Amino acid sequence: MAATAPAIDKNALKAKYAEERDKRLRADASAQYVRLESEFADLAVDPYMPVAAREPVTDHVMFAFVGGGFAGLCAGARLKQAGFDSVRIIDKGGDFGGTWYWNRYPGAQCDTASMVYMPLLEETGHMPSEKYAHAPEIREHCARIGRQFGLYEHALFHTQVTAMEWDEARTVWVIETNRGDRFTAKYVGMGTGPLHVAKLPGLPGIETFRGKSFHTSRWDYGYTGGNPEGAPMTGLADKRVAIIGTGATAVQCVPETAKYAKELYVFQRTPSSVDVRANEPIDPEWFAQISGEGWQKKWQENFTAHFGMGMPAEDLVDDGWTDLAKRIRSNMMQVPPSEWTPEKVLELFEDADFQKMEEIRRRAEALVDDPETAEGLKAWYRQLCKRPCFHDEYLQAFNRPGVKLVHTDGLGVERITEKGVVANGTEYEVDCIVYASGFEVWTDFESRTGFDPVGRGGQKLSEHWGDHMRTLHGLQMHGFPNAFLVQATQGAAFIANYPHNLVDHADTIAAIIGHMESEGLDAVEPMAQAEQKWLDFLLTGRGNALASTECTPGYYNNEGAGLRERDKYNLGHPGGALAFFTHIAAWRSSGAFEGLAFR
Ligand code: NDP
Repeated sequence: MAATAPAIDKNALKAKYAEERDKRLRADASAQYVRLESEFADLAVDPYMPVAAREPVTDHVMFAFVGGGFAGLCAGARLKQAGFDSVRIIDKGGDFGGTWYWNRYPGAQCDTASMVYMPLLEETGHMPSEKYAHAPEIREHCARIGRQFGLYEHALFHTQVTAMEWDEARTVWVIETNRGDRFTAKYVGMGTGPLHVAKLPGLPGIETFRGKSFHTSRWDYGYTGGNPEGAPMTGLADKRVAIIGTGATAVQCVPETAKYAKELYVFQRTPSSVDVRANEPIDPEWFAQISGEGWQKKWQENFTAHFGMGMPAEDLVDDGWTDLAKRIRSNMMQVPPSEWTPEKVLELFEDADFQKMEEIRRRAEALVDDPETAEGLKAWYRQLCKRPCFHDEYLQAFNRPGVKLVHTDGLGVERITEKGVVANGTEYEVDCIVYASGFEVWTDFESRTGFDPVGRGGQKLSEHWGDHMRTLHGLQMHGFPNAFLVQATQGAAFIANYPHNLVDHADTIAAIIGHMESEGLDAVEPMAQAEQKWLDFLLTGRGNALASTECTPGYYNNEGAGLRERDKYNLGHPGGALAFFTHIAAWRSSGAFEGLAFR
């Protein structure tokens, strides 16, 4: 396709991208959204499992972990493997899963290949059924990890941590929850996920709508019929449905909703780039051949290597993510290495991106029957300005007779009325509004987690971080003994396969705690100088390119507002994700735990 494509007028394209971005810039940036709180609190209720009554817990555990998604499961599993039994995971949901507990909307599936995305496949012996597994299988995998590693035993579900404070005299953390629990733990972990607080567009009149409405992370199958496993949503047969938003979630739930709703209106402010998915079942014979000892680590590292400076000879995952990386490299190979200046590399990257996005726009033209709708579905920005999407039914869904794209040319929905949705000056009367409007990203850590950990000397984490986040390896903070953050920032910061960050941090936690326990130590934290040295090192890199204000607004760039001073510390290893994983593996295995102070 690329070979026969017309030449790209780069200047014209850049001007078009800038024009489309400018249409979408707005002064309120991230403040345009509201939480599922106060008058919208009903929308936050768990539609999947009733909250069971229980007595408050007042015991002591060795390790308490906030968050029962992949982060908590990986950390818990590694500790159990190391022989530490007393592990408690606490989660707001009614079971393990985190993201995958809440996001049960129809069509939900992983966007990164199951082989590298689903953690602990080798340890559990699970073979993913598809190249991109669907949500029920991933949720079941979470439960499988929980069962296999005995993590259900001490878990507290439907429970929100409200306070966490270090008691220096006893060298324990004291943890309180909204269920009246008050227990202690020698170690704490926090893996609350970067996108776990659902948000709604703060539209005028949103509270006046008289029909049914819900956020995609609280899909109401009682209303729509069907189930996450794909049973027909018969409840929608006589319903006019609006889906507001066209991000990665909408791209997955629109095709399924389109099959069943009498009428479906998809309200679009900015189109997603939607490339080929090419999902396929995994062949057990093939899997048996490739799944020898260490296979998943090998696959994860191979996938990650495509996003660094190295050039892996093979591409095990071979999909849209690695395709972009390979294109950049292939462009580079056409230029002698002596000319690889930073500016030249950026230009080659841009060229590869322009080609890719042209192909994606032509894909919309080829697959969507109505030319005006096809035009509206074309994304005019660089591929990594927003989460790249991949789907083989999304664009085609707009060919169904009952499905209409309401393209608002960057303006978005204007308001909600008692009867429906107003956009482009027209009121669309609907029975149901589905908010595919995403999750908070740019708010403060303590605001999203709902508590502000209090460390040594009564210092709050928000105070320690002050102007910006500070950690050693993205994992530990000076002044917060025996506490671990399990997330990507200031570590590998690898977004294309987020779980790779989590499994790796779990390995580090198990190594540190293993050392502590074998030496009979009470507390560990990074030294202040070590934390600062790590930050200084991170700052030697090129910064967070994803948050460019040249991009169309979205959560990557704080809705167009770009990086605040503090966000400049939302970084990863200057050498890329694989360089971080290599560094930390050596750090762990040396046994010296450089930068940590033990007592
Ligand atoms: P996003 O934040 O990506 O999308 C929110 C959508 O709501 C955007 O299209 C936004 O438009 C739109 N919107 C907001 N206000 C209005 C308005 N007034 N009128 C019309 N549209 C409006 O949320 P998602 O839930 O789609 O995705 C969040 C993230 O979750 C993804 O980026 C990805 O990281 C993750 N995810 C991962 C999946 C996977 O791995 N399987 C699947 C789904 C999500 P605009 O673009 O103009 O701001």
